[in-house]
Order: sequence, then C-alpha cells, then structure tokens
Amino acid sequence: MKIYFRKLITIFLLLFVFSLHTVFAGEKQGTEGHYSITNFETFEDVNGVYDFATISSPAFSEQFQLYKQDAISLGISKSVYWIRFVLPTNDNSQIDAKQLLELSNPSISKIDLYLPVVNSSDMDNLQYLEKHVGAERPSTNRDIWDTSWVFDIPQQYAQGQYIYLKLESISTLRLPILVWQENSFFKKIFIENIGYGIFYGVLIAVFLYNLFIVFVLRDKTYLFYVLYIFFMFIYQFNAHGHLKLWLNIEYSLYNALFWICLSAGFIFSILFTASFLQVHDDEAVWSKIIKMLLVTAIIQGILGAFGYSILANKIANCLGIIEPSLFMALAIFRICQGFHPAIFYLLAWGILSLGILVWILSSYRIMAENVLMFTTASEAILLSLALSDRFKTLRLKELVLTRNIHYYRDLSLTDELTGLYNRRYLKKKMQQEISRAVQEEKSMALIVIDIDLFKKYNDTYGHWQGDQVLIRFSEVLLNILDGTQTAFRFGGEEFVVLLPNAFYDDATVIAERIRSHFAAEEFVPVEDSSVHVTISAGFSILKLSDTEEILFERADKALYQAKKSGRNKVVFL
Ligand code: GH3
Ligand code: MG
Ligand code: MG
Repeated sequence: MKIYFRKLITIFLLLFVFSLHTVFAGEKQGTEGHYSITNFETFEDVNGVYDFATISSPAFSEQFQLYKQDAISLGISKSVYWIRFVLPTNDNSQIDAKQLLELSNPSISKIDLYLPVVNSSDMDNLQYLEKHVGAERPSTNRDIWDTSWVFDIPQQYAQGQYIYLKLESISTLRLPILVWQENSFFKKIFIENIGYGIFYGVLIAVFLYNLFIVFVLRDKTYLFYVLYIFFMFIYQFNAHGHLKLWLNIEYSLYNALFWICLSAGFIFSILFTASFLQVHDDEAVWSKIIKMLLVTAIIQGILGAFGYSILANKIANCLGIIEPSLFMALAIFRICQGFHPAIFYLLAWGILSLGILVWILSSYRIMAENVLMFTTASEAILLSLALSDRFKTLRLKELVLTRNIHYYRDLSLTDELTGLYNRRYLKKKMQQEISRAVQEEKSMALIVIDIDLFKKYNDTYGHWQGDQVLIRFSEVLLNILDGTQTAFRFGGEEFVVLLPNAFYDDATVIAERIRSHFAAEEFVPVEDSSVHVTISAGFSILKLSDTEEILFERADKALYQAKKSGRNKVVFL
C-alpha cells in the first residue's frame, strides 16, 4: 500500500511539473504566431454614463491613464471600463497576412469593440466598426465561433489609431488581449481543443464509472461524489465558454443556471467530504463547520440566481479558497487518527489547490489554465481512487467483524479438544434434521458411541494420553463421514453421529466401519507398547412418532446393550 502510494504521488508530481512546463514553454513557443497587447490606457466610468462619442472625442483623451501590464486585470467591479490601445505597426511581415484580435476571457459579461477603419478612397474619413459581444449577449454576434471573443482585423484598419473597448463584467475583469496571424490562431485552437477533449473526457469517464458504482453499491458517499463531478463538469464547461456556444438561451436563465450549478457543486463537494471523512454530529466543531459551509454555498446559489451576481461571485471566490483548506485540515486530522483513505483525499485537494495557486501566482495567465485543468482532472481521478480505497477499508473492517462473529459462534458450538460440534449444537441440529426428515418423508439414523473402558486407559496412561485417543477417534469419524453426515462430541468419551437419509443398512455399514477402523488404530502411550482401543455403538432409525429425546434414548439403550454384551459391538434398537 505504501509503495503503491509513493509511486502514485511521484507520477502526479511529475505530470504536474510537466503541465507547469507547458505554461512557460508554451508561451515562448507561441511568440511566433501571436503577440500580446501590453500598452493599454484605461478610463473608469463609475456610473456608466459616457457614450462612445464622448469617450473618443479629442477633449476626453486626457482622462485616460496608462496601464502597463501584459493583461487587463481590474478585479470585480460594477464600474464600466473603457480601454484603448494601438496595434503596433513595426512588424512588416504581419501586415499582409490576415490578423485576428482575441479577447481571451469567455466570462466577461459585455464587450463593445470599436475598431477604427478608413476607406482607401477617403483617407481622412475615420470610421469605427462596432462589435457587441459578451457572455450576456447572443453567441451569434461572434466573428469566429470560438469560446473567447475573436474579431477579424479588417484590411481597412486605420494604422496608429486607437481601438476602443467598453467592458462590463460581473466576474473578475481579467482580459488578456492578443493579436494572431490567422493560421497560428487556428493551430492554437486545434491543440487547445484536443486538451479540452482530454479534460472533459476524463471528467465524463470518472462520472460514468462512479455512476455505475452508485447503481451497484447504492452508497450515498458515491452518490454525492457523482453529483459533485456532474455539477463541476457543467461549471467547467461553462467557465471555459463551451456551454455558451452550445446553449443559446436567455441570459437571465443562463445566469441562474450558472450560479445554481456552482452552488450545487459546492454543496455536493461538502456533503461528499462530510460523508467520506465521516463527520458525525458528535464532533461538534466539524459538523458546525460543515453546516456553515453548506449554508454559505446555498446563499451564494440563491443570490446568484436572483441576479446579485457580484456578491455571489465574491462569496464563491471565498468559498473556493476556504473550503479546500478546511477539508485538507480535516483530512490530515483523519490520517492522524489512522483512516488511510484520507491520504488520497488529501492528495486530491492538495493537487487542486496547487493548481489554483499556480494560476493565481502567474496572475491568471492563459497557459496556467492548462495547469488548472490538469489539476482539476487529477482531483477527480484521485477522489475516485480515494473512494475505492475507502470502500476497501470499510469492507475489510466489515469482513474482520463478520469473521469474528463466525469465530465466536463456532466457538460456542464446537468442542475445544476435538473440533467436533458440541452437545449444544446437537440439540439444534437434531431438531432441524428431524423436522426436515418428516417434511420430506426421508429416513434418518442416529448413532451413539462410547469408548470402551476408557477410565482404565486414563488411569493407566494418564489423562493426556486419554485425550490423544479422543482426538484420534474424532479424526477417524471425520474420515468416514461425508458432508451431509455430522459428528458431535456429546461429552466425556461419548459421541453422536447424525445420518440423514440413512436406513438400517446404511447406518449399520457406517457404524461398523467406525467401530472396525477405530479398533485397527494403534496407540503407543508408553514406549514399545502398542495398544488398541475399542468403542461400543448403539443406533436407531427415526420413526414417525419420534421426538429427538425418544430417538436418542433408543440409541442410548442400544449402546447399553452393546456394553452389556461384551463391548466392541454395534447394536440396533
Ligand atoms: P465403559 O466401557 O463402560 O464405558 O467404561 P468407561 O471406563 O469408559 O466408563 P466410564 O464412564 O466410567 O468412564 C469414562 C471416563 O472417561 C471417565 C473419565 O476419566 C474419562 N473422561 C471423560 N472425559 C475425558 C476427557 O476429556 N479426557 C480424558 N482423558 N478422559 C476423559
Ligand atoms: Mg461413558
Ligand atoms: Mg466408556
């Protein structure tokens, strides 16, 4: 288990480092076909009162402030932001090829783009091409059918003139802006879509696999997990802009769906954790924390669904940081208590948190989203492993418990010295066998056996040697009897054999066989002396009117007669 676990950690860490590598290597490689816009000027319109004519007028130009970063990142705000920038003209090789402008964040609510163009016949007449896109607007407005906002830069683009953007968003206003050569852009899309395919594929596979297990096991922990994966999948599908492309519904409905899915994702991850890490009511602190998290997630869902998106987003961001930290603390606590499956659980959330950390530290770089997707998929797989490990652990506990139950039950029904069933079980078994024989109208025989002159043997060779005789006799018995026939140590040196379906002839044969086989056994209680021990047996066949006592008494009487008539005999009565 430990070696297997270490290997697993190594594999995931290696993959993690590899995915990190793609962030930085990928950005270097990408420089060929695209570049990022880095020289922005911004203007914050707090009340959203200005129109484009005012904003673009020369008199207003002074109001813009320089914003020198490789991506717009303005946090969550109710303000309207105006951004302007100029496309660099120094690279001649790019002028002829068709170029695309990519605003790379599918979640921005509203984007208005104003692209300056001039007609070649009338160079002085500057006009603006307007495009209106964003998560809140119909996806038919797009120039190119992609998750981010991509626009053709027309041939008539007025070099050196400002491109204006008006941005409004309920989610974090983070917007990397890139200029692509058309070919490179489609190459990027192709590779990106393979990545998405793998990512969604893993989530769907994990979902279906565990859904199957839900049906088989009917275990609520699995159910919570499957629901968590389901809502996380929709959330991811949405966050990466794919849902918007496929589902063209009214924005308020879409928005409500988004927040409810996110909230449900939180709720089921919390329920899953509480169930997986076995938080019960008697752990007051943890059950309080779980309840608080649940309430917060529900509030977030309700606020979002009713349009308080900014507040809902803030709550979701807090939950996204607090929840994994608390869960990891609880997992560590459980590991200390010896609950091994919590190790996988810890690893799962650990990897996801690492991904989030990288994403934040790299100031939400686009390529870091790859790491985030990788860690999200890893989390899903690891939690799935955690579940099966937990299942195995609990099963093992159960198995040990049932084994113990069997052990103690056997202990109460068997004889310690010989391992044969004891008198207590004889009573039960006789009742069963008699009622079965009567019901099925079958025959049944009972043999009572007593070792001859055993007291003398004990007195001569000692009690321990006597015990060896009893053990050997029970071995002889078991060798002769088949699976349907049962032997009991009735007490002392007396034994009973139950023979279902046996008539007089069958019982005689078996009783005779026991007598003769045992008589042939050789004992060496003291050196150089070989001793034989004999038994006497009485047997009887079940009659319709018999109770177990009557049947037993008849066989016992037969035994008495065998003793009286000289021992080492089988008598029927
Ligand atoms: P009989 O042929 O008439 O049955 O003679 P017996 O000596 O076998 O008869 P009795 O019932 O007087 O003696 C039974 C002896 O069995 C007495 C006791 O010492 C011995 N015995 C009973 N239980 C055990 C046991 O667990 N171990 C040993 N070694 N001896 C036992
Ligand atoms: Mg006796
Ligand atoms: Mg005896």
